Amino acid sequence: MFKSVSPKVEFAQLEEEITTYWKKNKIFEKSITSRPTDKRWTFLDGPPFVTGMPHYGSLLSSLPKDVFGRYWTMKGYRVRRVWGWDGHGLPIENKVENELELRSKRDIEEVVGVKKFVDECKHYVNVISSDWEWYVDRIGRWVDFKNAYKTWDVDYMESVMWVFKQMYEKGFVYKGLRVSLYCPHCATPISNFEVAMDVDNYKEIQDDTTTYKYKIVGQKDTYFLAWSTTPWNKLVTTALAVNPKFVYVKVEQNGEVYILAKSTIKTLGDKKTYKILEEIKGSQLVGMQFEPHYDYYKNKVKKGVKVFEIIPGDFVTAEEGTGIVTIAAYGEEDLKAMREHNVHVEMHLDEEGHIKDEVPQFAGMYYLKANKAVDEDLTKRGLIYKVQTQPHRVPLCWRCHTRLYYAPIDAWFVNVQELKPLLKQTNEKVNWFPKHFKKGRFLKSLENAPDWNISRNRYWGSPVPVWECECGDRFVPGSIKELEEASGKKITDLHKPEIDEVTVTCKKCGKKAHRVSEVLDSWIEAGSASFAERHFPFDDSDPSTGSGQEKLEDFFPPDFISEYTGQIRAWFYVLHVIGGAIYGSQAFKNVTVTGVILGTDGRKMSKNFKNYPDPREMLEKYGGDALRLYLLGSPVMHGEDILISEEQYKMQVRSTMLILWNVYNFFVTYANLDGWKPTRHSGKRDNEHSQNPKDDSGQARMTNALDEWILSLLEKLKEDVTKSLDAYDTVRAIDALRNFVNDFSTWYIRRSRDRVGPSAADQADKEAFYQTCYAVLTTVCKLLSPIAPFITEEIYRNLTDEESVHLSDWPAKSEKSEVRNEKLLEEMKQVRKVVELGLAARKEQQMRVKQPLAAIFVSYAEKDEEFAKKLEKLILDELNVKKVEFTKKKAKEMTVMLDTTITAALIAEGQAREIVRKIQEERKKIETRLDEQVAVTLESWPEEFASYIKQHAMVKTLTKGEFKVERLQ
Ligand SMILES: [Zn+2]
Ligand SMILES: [Zn+2]
Repeated sequence: MFKSVSPKVEFAQLEEEITTYWKKNKIFEKSITSRPTDKRWTFLDGPPFVTGMPHYGSLLSSLPKDVFGRYWTMKGYRVRRVWGWDGHGLPIENKVENELELRSKRDIEEVVGVKKFVDECKHYVNVISSDWEWYVDRIGRWVDFKNAYKTWDVDYMESVMWVFKQMYEKGFVYKGLRVSLYCPHCATPISNFEVAMDVDNYKEIQDDTTTYKYKIVGQKDTYFLAWSTTPWNKLVTTALAVNPKFVYVKVEQNGEVYILAKSTIKTLGDKKTYKILEEIKGSQLVGMQFEPHYDYYKNKVKKGVKVFEIIPGDFVTAEEGTGIVTIAAYGEEDLKAMREHNVHVEMHLDEEGHIKDEVPQFAGMYYLKANKAVDEDLTKRGLIYKVQTQPHRVPLCWRCHTRLYYAPIDAWFVNVQELKPLLKQTNEKVNWFPKHFKKGRFLKSLENAPDWNISRNRYWGSPVPVWECECGDRFVPGSIKELEEASGKKITDLHKPEIDEVTVTCKKCGKKAHRVSEVLDSWIEAGSASFAERHFPFDDSDPSTGSGQEKLEDFFPPDFISEYTGQIRAWFYVLHVIGGAIYGSQAFKNVTVTGVILGTDGRKMSKNFKNYPDPREMLEKYGGDALRLYLLGSPVMHGEDILISEEQYKMQVRSTMLILWNVYNFFVTYANLDGWKPTRHSGKRDNEHSQNPKDDSGQARMTNALDEWILSLLEKLKEDVTKSLDAYDTVRAIDALRNFVNDFSTWYIRRSRDRVGPSAADQADKEAFYQTCYAVLTTVCKLLSPIAPFITEEIYRNLTDEESVHLSDWPAKSEKSEVRNEKLLEEMKQVRKVVELGLAARKEQQMRVKQPLAAIFVSYAEKDEEFAKKLEKLILDELNVKKVEFTKKKAKEMTVMLDTTITAALIAEGQAREIVRKIQEERKKIETRLDEQVAVTLESWPEEFASYIKQHAMVKTLTKGEFKVERLQ
């Protein structure tokens, strides 16, 4: 006997019970340990931020990780799945700053001290919200939380140190002055990809664009007109740049003479107001001197270094402005040009964006405030030609939302330019899903990537592991042991400030060398996860294998990673750079990229907008399987953005899940009623056995066409789902499963209802039905289990004596080719088409289906005898007609015609069917068992159908009188 099934199932509650069962019986652990250690499928989890709260985005990214982990486990691989936490960097520092009520970076050093600040950060990251586990359980994700790696653990940090050293020794890390985006609040450079990850990191503002006048040395009332959007750095404009290929003009206007690019002359307004004096080639302007607006630093300029001079620049365009641009150190191209032409570099902002004390008149001003003050001063001095406003998109700090600016920073960089050719090559080996990201967004961001600034002038992070001596020599340790040996000190913590107290003796000159002050960008840590999560290459044991340190090729590059589109320029990118730099390899073999789930109004989900249903409530109401079916079956898995929809979520319960549940309920109810039990191999051998079921006497029996059909369809389903999951396409897999479950319910079970139960007499056919249905249900459970792990577990465990569907093997393709009868699949399509047209014809002529009709005529081009023999009965039963006649007319499309002549006999039969339906309804009301006989009183019935009524409605006695149905006891 199977456990009886409730038709009123509460999936969310059922899922909770299953979670408890899994935990109690360690099913997840068994799913790993039951697979061989030498056959692995490796997965690398992208760590979420430890202080973040679970949201639809984090739930979504968990789903493919879980699906493919389960899938490859069933295919016989050992799939280690360990959670990770990211916990270094600005987000934590900002939170601690707020908690300690610190207003600026200076306060960290001067008010609380680095030690206390870092201790607070440690404390902060060690309080991990228990919400994560609740959500992860509820969505059915199997992952090892207990052994989660943490980026702030000393082991993890040691591996990061090792990664840095590998890159450094291969020559891919350098220190230099380069322009980066810079946050004056956090007082640190910010990676451009950190900003680009989110559209909210940009703001559209109205900015002044100013055309400045720079007087040419030695020429009376003659000025260069130069254009700029940043008045604050006019204080340190040490050069102007022209494009040597452009044609410039000298123009007279209102008694002054201006030089600007000819193609930008509209800047001067109406033609009548100016007169062109001469044309000059850009290259002829190069080397000319101008009078600076501010020159407080002129005594600092070294001999032989250029200052206040016109330099050439190919980057100067004529699209905006005047074809002459101001050059200061606060721009990437500016600094490059200054270096190339040996121009004096002057920096006038302190690390919090204020103008340095040495700058007369503007000292102490925040740089944005200086914008106005500088333009006012220059207006007074007659050095501004005109000011216009223009919309302008500016980047904001992703952490504190302060407006960023470009600043020259002496920092550590990964030489991405040198790595690029390799990185493009290794990208060719990565299997991207969806495919277009490979040549699209990822390749593009690779091609445009600047060198990667990997140092931060902050406190809470892995140290830049470089000890510098004043003689210029550097010591870069790749392990704690190496550092201990060099310093003679025991190292237990790699964090600031302890690490800064560690000094080493310079090998070159014997002096004391100190560590550089910076910490590493936390993306270096995220990008080192492949190695650091296992504390590679250091020798210690891995709890999941129980063995010592694994070999690199056992886990790198990992088989699979998955995150959302925002990580294309972030985590995927940094993994790829590090994998390339260290091993010249791609950093992952397969990657799936999901889209973003937006709020119901198409905006980003936000508590303020109240534009999304609470995920906890949703999970409590509809459960995890429904969420999985919803998201894994949606375009978000093809990298597209979707709007969250409770309706779509809910629909998964009503459609796929309840349909499957009802079929399962039907099967269990009747199997129990008929006392049917699976034979030992029913589940294990899938459907092989039921092809030619033998009765007790060992005689092979004719198969029912329906059984043969559903088993063929099942064989096709196996192939479709396997192909789809091999290709990382959950949408296609779910489509196939959904269609199958529908066909199974609305055709196979519907047409098989009369084959089982007390009124069915053909025992062999009954047996065939149960065997078939059993094989289908257990196989569908397996195929669906990676996607909907709960419902399939419940069904599978009731149908088999196995511990878990997730410990079973993936259904293999049948060895017998005849199992999949393609011809039959095609024919059944035709049958269902006839039925569809027949039902439509009945509706059109208002002939209810309960009324039997004499015949249906079907125009059918290529009818064959076998088809008629096997499948005609299905048409007769479903359409309730006595006869189907195929006309051999060659019709383009199939058409049907009903014979609507109703004889007295047909009327009587229709009445009998109607009576059976009425009695069945009444039986349900008084809750009889399916095999329980009842006493029925009826006003009248067609006498020739008395036994028909008795058989089909389980009636013992039929009496004349007012209609009623009574139990016998
Ligand atoms: Zn900031
Ligand atoms: Zn030295």
